[in-house]
Amino acid sequence: MKKQFKTESKKILDLMINSVYTNKDIFLRELISNASDAIDKLYYKSLTDRKVKLDKDDFCIRINLDKENRTITILDNGIGMSEQELDENLGIIAKSGSSLFKEMNEKNKDINIIGQFGVGFYSAFMVAKEIRVLSKAFGSDEAYEWVSDGADGYSVSKATKDEAGTLITLYLKDNTDTDNYDEFLEPRRIEGIIKKYSDYVKYPIIMLKEVEKEDSKEKKLEDETINSMIPIWKRNESEVTEEEYNNFYADKFYDFEKPLKVIHSSVEGQIAYNSLMFIPSHAPYDYYTKEYEKGLQLYSNGVLIMDKCADLLPDYFSFVKGLVDSEDISLNLSREMLQQDRQVKLIAKSIEKKIKSTLEDLLKDNREEYEKFFDAFGMQLKYGIYSSYGMNNEALQDLLLFYSSKEKKRITLKEYVANMKDKQDKIYYASGESIDKIDLLPNVERFKDKDYEVLYLCDYVDEFTIQALMEYEGKKFANVASENTELDEPEEKEKLDKHNKDAEKMFEAMKKALPEVKNIKYTNKLKNHPVCLSTEGNISLEMEKIMNSMPTGESVKAEVVLEINENHPIAKELETLFKKDKDKLEQYTKILYNQARLIEGLPIENPTELTNLICDNLIKEK
Ligand code: ADP
Repeated sequence: MKKQFKTESKKILDLMINSVYTNKDIFLRELISNASDAIDKLYYKSLTDRKVKLDKDDFCIRINLDKENRTITILDNGIGMSEQELDENLGIIAKSGSSLFKEMNEKNKDINIIGQFGVGFYSAFMVAKEIRVLSKAFGSDEAYEWVSDGADGYSVSKATKDEAGTLITLYLKDNTDTDNYDEFLEPRRIEGIIKKYSDYVKYPIIMLKEVEKEDSKEKKLEDETINSMIPIWKRNESEVTEEEYNNFYADKFYDFEKPLKVIHSSVEGQIAYNSLMFIPSHAPYDYYTKEYEKGLQLYSNGVLIMDKCADLLPDYFSFVKGLVDSEDISLNLSREMLQQDRQVKLIAKSIEKKIKSTLEDLLKDNREEYEKFFDAFGMQLKYGIYSSYGMNNEALQDLLLFYSSKEKKRITLKEYVANMKDKQDKIYYASGESIDKIDLLPNVERFKDKDYEVLYLCDYVDEFTIQALMEYEGKKFANVASENTELDEPEEKEKLDKHNKDAEKMFEAMKKALPEVKNIKYTNKLKNHPVCLSTEGNISLEMEKIMNSMPTGESVKAEVVLEINENHPIAKELETLFKKDKDKLEQYTKILYNQARLIEGLPIENPTELTNLICDNLIKEK
């Protein structure tokens, strides 16, 4: 009976049949990788289940090319698949792939997004018009065959096969004017692909090859192992080429963009392990979602025992991909025991150090690359600080970058502190929607005028991060919009205090018009602007905006202060009105307050009232 592929699988299939990848070679890598995984599973069973007795040396993957029938076969003696598994595994695209289409709309069939998934088995349809998968699950007496030409669905029927394992037969597509599929029947071509992508596969990949007999010109066929079988991570760093690392990365982690950084290390001492880790050059499409799973592959002396060992990576370095191989890790290590495992803890600690120092070096030696890294994963580092309530400050603070008003680019906190003015004891920052908008804020103006550097925070986590940091190298952070930051000389301060005291009664009258405002006062920090807002307490206006936009429905209020430029003509005007026309004073107060809100990018509570007020005053002006 013919069955149809699930819709999502069908879309992937269409993409594959019509060859979205220009690089068709990868089909072989995918099938070999599946074969190797299947052997891994059986080998693991033989190591952990006493009833299963198998010899590691018997495991192998065989490739056979048949020019006459135009077929390629890939045979493995791994775990095999039952009837149900054939149906489930090959009828539906790999689980990771199914969420692909949620992300990918019709227009956005971006190859790089596709590349992030194990399209795996389906990639064989790039070169094959029909595929047969004959399989016998280990321990079962029955074999089944899955057959499909891609387009018309697939069928599974009973078959015969002696040994457990899987035999995949690809019937190559017919050659066309532009594509020559016969090349995949050439032993040299296939050998080249295996060497390039699958050299490190642990099990021998065997091909029959013609060799000349020593004493005669006659040729005979002999088995030849094509791959070196040495895992890349066990090789010496100096012997591995960049291309090999990149291919390995693409193969294992489904990312067809080169990694930003490769971290290959071999550690000895208290605990011995090899590790090969990669920092991706971009965030995976699901990185900042709940679906993303962090973790490194964990090998016990070359045997994969866990695909995503989360305990090996702290959350803030969750973007790192890679693997760890250690003889000190027990083969029987279970998920439940992981967290208590001393060895795992030691490795995790050592790995964290290694990642951190790699990032520090990158920051020091290649700023451009580091900024690229920070664009992709900086958010995670900041999140790491604020979600731990400051516990990770030490580990992460020197990896942060913030935009600087002076440098017009991103700087580290260390760089900020090194450039602080003589008597400056605080790290100043301003927050807002974008660099440009922050740059225009009235509060920022004065700091820039007095030659203070201001950090511009425009990521929504920034200010929360700063609050969790509290201080850096003993210097407290201060929001330029928060009224407790004083740049004044003592005389200036005295003058302003006096002016404020004299106007106390007027401010009281004005406050009647603005019950929502905590305070009204004069400021000397504005140059051209008539008014600005500042806050008292811990919640800034930007934080108020962010927290109120969160789906949790929490509502917070910043304690707002309306500041009026004491040197602006409006100050005199207000004082006159206070004496002559209290009604109008209230109207002006409302207008000015809303003006300040507009500049800050805050919503106007009552736009109708405001526009009417403005209009009234325009008319009465005459
Ligand atoms: P992925 O390998 O990313 O899971 P694939 O589409 O390549 O996705 O394969 C789907 C599933 O089919 C695999 O997860 C595996 O369970 C099964 N499978 C594929 N090839 C083999 C094989 N040679 N032997 C046993 N199982 C296999």
